[in-house]
Amino acid sequence: MSSILHFAIDTPLRRVFDYLPPSGASELHPGQRAWVPFGKRRVVGVLLSVDNHSDVPASKMRRVADLIDTSPVFDTELLKLLVWAAEYYHHPIGEVIASALPIALRDGAPQFATEIHWRLSEQGRHEPIQVSSRATKLQALLSIIGDEQPHRDDRLIDHRVALRNLLKRGLVERVETRTVIESVAPRIDTPLPVLSSDQQCALQAIVDSLGTFRTLLLYGVTGSGKTEVYLRAIDQVLQRDEQALILVPEIALTPQLVERFHIRFKLPMAVLHSGLSNTERLNAWRAARTGNARIVIGTRSAVFTALAKPGLIIVDEEHDSSYKQQEGFRYSARDLAIVRAQRHGIPVVLGSATPSLETLQRARRNPADLLRLPQRAGIAVPPILKLVDLRHHAANQGLSTPVMQAIRVHLDAGNQVLLYLNRRGYAPVLFCPQCGWSAPCMSCDARMTVHMRQGKLQCHHCGNEQALFTHCPSCNAEVKPVGQGTERIEETLQALFPDGSIARIDRDSISHKGELHAALDRINSGEANILVGTQMLAKGHHFPNVTLAVILNADQGLFSADFRGSEKLAQSIVQVAGRAGRGDRAGEVLIQTEYPDHPLLQRLLAGGYDAFADAALSERETALWPPFTRLVLIRAETDTTQRAIEILQAARRILHKTSQTASRKLQLFGPAPAPMTRRAGVHRAQLLLRATHAAALQRVLSQAVTQIELLPDAKRVRWSIDVDPIELF
Ligand SMILES: [Zn+2]
Ligand SMILES: [Zn+2]
Repeated sequence: MSSILHFAIDTPLRRVFDYLPPSGASELHPGQRAWVPFGKRRVVGVLLSVDNHSDVPASKMRRVADLIDTSPVFDTELLKLLVWAAEYYHHPIGEVIASALPIALRDGAPQFATEIHWRLSEQGRHEPIQVSSRATKLQALLSIIGDEQPHRDDRLIDHRVALRNLLKRGLVERVETRTVIESVAPRIDTPLPVLSSDQQCALQAIVDSLGTFRTLLLYGVTGSGKTEVYLRAIDQVLQRDEQALILVPEIALTPQLVERFHIRFKLPMAVLHSGLSNTERLNAWRAARTGNARIVIGTRSAVFTALAKPGLIIVDEEHDSSYKQQEGFRYSARDLAIVRAQRHGIPVVLGSATPSLETLQRARRNPADLLRLPQRAGIAVPPILKLVDLRHHAANQGLSTPVMQAIRVHLDAGNQVLLYLNRRGYAPVLFCPQCGWSAPCMSCDARMTVHMRQGKLQCHHCGNEQALFTHCPSCNAEVKPVGQGTERIEETLQALFPDGSIARIDRDSISHKGELHAALDRINSGEANILVGTQMLAKGHHFPNVTLAVILNADQGLFSADFRGSEKLAQSIVQVAGRAGRGDRAGEVLIQTEYPDHPLLQRLLAGGYDAFADAALSERETALWPPFTRLVLIRAETDTTQRAIEILQAARRILHKTSQTASRKLQLFGPAPAPMTRRAGVHRAQLLLRATHAAALQRVLSQAVTQIELLPDAKRVRWSIDVDPIELF
């Protein structure tokens, strides 16, 4: 009786590939990698399951060439999670599995690191080694290796030539062993801060949940000491001899954060982020897989890190949009962290000062899972929020008089000020006052952004660039930049506050991690006292001397067409406000707006994020938006809008027919051209699905996707499925 092996292979096909076991097969386990013939190539596949069924005729079935692993690269729970994710997100299983592995492992690198040792061979131990007195190198080596113990290869680096000599004579041998797991007891040397009673309660709830599945929301205002709660909980996890996995947004993963963990625990840790080389990533993965790394910190894709003894998962800043992958395999690391915790039977802690409405709603249904830290730690007082009405206070290059006066007062008091504007560059538009022309991107339905210092125009949607020019191509009048970006605000501030020293933090001024740290150092040392930046500045950094935070333009998000627009705006405002007045200094927050009566701003001012969230959740419930419904967005991209619409119309017919048999119907919106129809030269359209019942939606989609794939156009048009999309554009 021959078994059939079902493999996942890294291809865009939504299917598994069947093979016969390798000749002389040893034991086979799902999760093992193997070299398999694929067309004319040999590729790495991951074994998903073994049974006796295949649609491939036995005569055409090929045999696995070679097993790579002796034990699976994924434990059973993680492998099941990946299979589940492929089904839930309707993404090809091969690509899902590949995205969970470091590139080196996708290419067949050994799962475990081995150490090479050298020692005397049987012959070397028993026969006297003849060495002339002039062969000093050989003698030096023998004085080490003569003790008959194995010696690590990396410690014999200066003895390469001599080793080769002895190896040729059969007197030494090379021994490969799997790297030994160091067992290190967690040590805490530093005196620990005293926990507030809220922190104590939150910690207790997490510790009580260890060993069982539970989703806890740690809802703590900025500066309330969430990280300290994490650290104490992790300590308990380590005492149980388990591992902790901590997910953080890309931008928050700074050496300072890692250092804070190192100081507390002095334990081997694995840090996984997009800046690692393939080898570094492999080493970090191995350390987590073997259990050597007791603490694993990483960004989005670290949710797939194989762990030896998972004990706790933490998702810090759980509302952050970087947890959602927006290309290819469009998964939410936060949502998968919850499913993963459930499969392992361990708790997951979602932490935020501004929880996503999904997470907040879930916690409200289970009030015991909502852990609140409503107070700032120590004697810190909450900041005071004020609106600056731009209709009554003229703005000079984006800065109103009350804002300029406030900056002066705070600088004179020796404090730092922070200005937030979510728009980089000098100005968003290059405009001709004579004929009304403005510089368009040739590939997108968008305008080019002016970057004055670099003397160029750049499209922020596709990256197109061209040199900046001074005269209108249409009427030859002089053109001028209109509106403000962070670069222009910096210029204005320099002119207005010549005694101030400015640090600008955005993607143009900070292109690599080193520059961010240099800028943060300038801020923390007090050398810079005016901070200007985008989201990059608003996230996670601790600036104890900032006493004034200014939101320069709140109006961008007030009238967003996206139903999540107001949530994002409220989160930004609260996060920026949280930068002001940490430590023992009272903070002031100014929000510039032309719509001071807007309900969102009024609610935030009167009742903070809670009041905003209450209102936003009832609006979502009435309008049937998530978290009260589930959404799926099907996108199509091709050379004309018409073709993109056509394939989505066909998809709509299929979905409509499939959902007729379902007990609960789907709502279909579109197809329609995407709000930005042309981007990077491609025309885009989309079809939105909405359902009140998640399982029904999944059933309909599973059937429909197979049929959509068979459409004649499906191979010519780039189309994708985004389950639980966070961007509807
Ligand atoms: Zn003109
Ligand atoms: Zn463009």
